[in-house]
Order: sequence, then C-alpha cells, then structure tokens
Amino acid sequence: MYAAVIHAARDLRLDERPNPSPGPGEVLVRFGAGGICGSDLSYWGKGRVGDFALREPLVLGHEVSGEIEALGEGVSGLAVGARVAVNPSRPCLGCDYCRAGRSNLCRNMRFFGSAAMFPHVQGGFAERFTCRADQAVPVPADMPFATAALAEPLSVALHGLRRAGDLLGKRVLVAGAGPIGMLIAIAVRHAGASFVAVTDLVDEPLALARAAGADETVNVGTAPERLAAFEADKGFFDVGFEATGAPPALVSLVRCVRPGGRVVQLGMMPPGEVGVPVNMLMAQEIDLVGAFRFAEEFATAVDWLANGRIDVSPVLSAQVSMGSLSEAFELAADRRRAIKVHLYF
Ligand code: ZN
Repeated sequence: MYAAVIHAARDLRLDERPNPSPGPGEVLVRFGAGGICGSDLSYWGKGRVGDFALREPLVLGHEVSGEIEALGEGVSGLAVGARVAVNPSRPCLGCDYCRAGRSNLCRNMRFFGSAAMFPHVQGGFAERFTCRADQAVPVPADMPFATAALAEPLSVALHGLRRAGDLLGKRVLVAGAGPIGMLIAIAVRHAGASFVAVTDLVDEPLALARAAGADETVNVGTAPERLAAFEADKGFFDVGFEATGAPPALVSLVRCVRPGGRVVQLGMMPPGEVGVPVNMLMAQEIDLVGAFRFAEEFATAVDWLANGRIDVSPVLSAQVSMGSLSEAFELAADRRRAIKVHLYF
C-alpha cells in the first residue's frame, strides 16, 4: 500500500509501505479522506513544527476518515464496513491528566503524524492504517469522507470555545481566517455570539469568512486603522481567539478585548518567547488562556457534522488525488486559493 511520507523539508513522497494489521483492541481503517493541516504544511515546508523537528521519515496526516476494514482481537461495538471519523489522539487513559478528564494534556500522548516523540508517531495519509478502537468514531454512512475528516479541526475549534467560556450574547474577535479561525467563527455564531469579526492579511479567506456569517472582516495588512478603532474605550470585544500563530495578532487581541474579557491562544507561535502587553492584562483583568488540541469535543464535532448543526461548506475548498500530492500541498499552502484541501486515494 502507499502512504504520503515526508523525508525532509520539501521532500514529500508517495512511498510503498507494508500493509498494517490491527493488534488487540485496534481496528484497521481504509483511508477515505485526509485534510492537509497547517502542521502537515510546516513539516513539508520547513521539516519541523514549532520545536518538533523530523528525525526520521514520517507519514503525515491527522485529519482522516475512512471505513473499517477489519477488527482486532477483543474489539466490540464497531462493525466492518462502518464509516468513521478518526480521532488522531491516542492518550494513555491512565495518567493523572487523563483521569482528570483533560486527556489532551496526557503525559504519554501519541498523536497521529507527529514528530513530538521519537520514534515518531506515523500519521493517517496512508491507504490503510490502524488505530485504537476508541479512536474510530462512527459517522452516518452517507456523510462525505471529507466532511467526516473535518471532525478533527472542528474539535480544535470547539475546544477553543470551551476555553473561552459562555459566548451567549458576546462580541467575538477571531484573528486568522485559516481553517481553525473559520471554524471558530462559524461555531461561535452557533454558540450564541452576538457579533463576530475576523481578521487576516489576505482578502480571499476574509470574503469566505463573511459568507460563513462573520459580521465584519478586517484586512490588518491593508486597513490596520479599522482594527485599531476597536481598541478605543479600552476595547470592544468580550472574547478574542488567536488562530494565526503570529505574535502581532496576540498583542492586537489583548488591545481589542475589553476589561474583564478573555483571549484564547490556539495558534502555534514561533519557537521561543513572544511579547505580550502584560500590564494591560493586569490592569484590565484580561484572562489569557491556552487551548491545545481537544478531548471530548471530538464527539461533539461528529454530532454537529452528522446533524448539520453548522454549515462547514465554506471551509471545504478542494479534493485532490494522492497521485497529485505535491500539487495538493501547493494548493493547501496558497491562502488565496484554499482554506482546507482534502486528499483521497
Ligand atoms: Zn494520559
């Protein structure tokens, strides 16, 4: 079988790998669709994500869906042929964080397609892969594979919402109109936000954010004064979401959030330290909280997608065959042309 393997920066190959077979408690999944994430693009472009550098070839991909092809020993409650969204998190379920219901902070997390550990945890951009049975979450048989694969980034967005707290009637600023920022903008509307603004440096995704329901969008590159206006009177927004990974966006969110408000950091910043206007946090009692991956939000994401609670179509940009792997990554990296690109075999 074939898999999309990153060997080094700009060295992405469709390699032949042995067919896997499921161990006890695992299932074998036949690949349906896989979304290309910012971290896949970072391994492809730079050979690293934040502090995690490639040290051996790595099958990319952690936003995947498919069909169960075989059950390992002792697996019950799942059927061969079932369509599933695959949760790429494999927490140990035994450490103090797992037991406290915060499995995204697991001390022994094995996350698909990640160089955080060595040997690396291989990812899901493969014709067949195995996962623990609880990672395979059934979806309706008629759900498109690409939609099912969106459960993962939607889970990230929903975990950000959880860290933000109650959003009913709140004014929300989302920095970044990439996949996560877009899904947050869509989800906060569903969660009751009264006003949603989205910022970015590129016009095309901002136009999609408006189509997805944002009340206002600001290109902070060409019209920074429009964002600065939100800083007046100690800030306009109740909640800010940082989904760019760019240090200036965090500073600007702190300035635009009102006293007593909250800023949620989702973006992966460059390695090292990043400046924050701490005196503003202090004097205005602004909460700055982190949001990392997700835990039980995966089930909620599958529910929202299965029941059509939100319209995710603005995020689904294109589907490209694994045979055109490089073209798919070039497209996914071009923010003027794509929000989220899905691969298929
Ligand atoms: Zn754990």
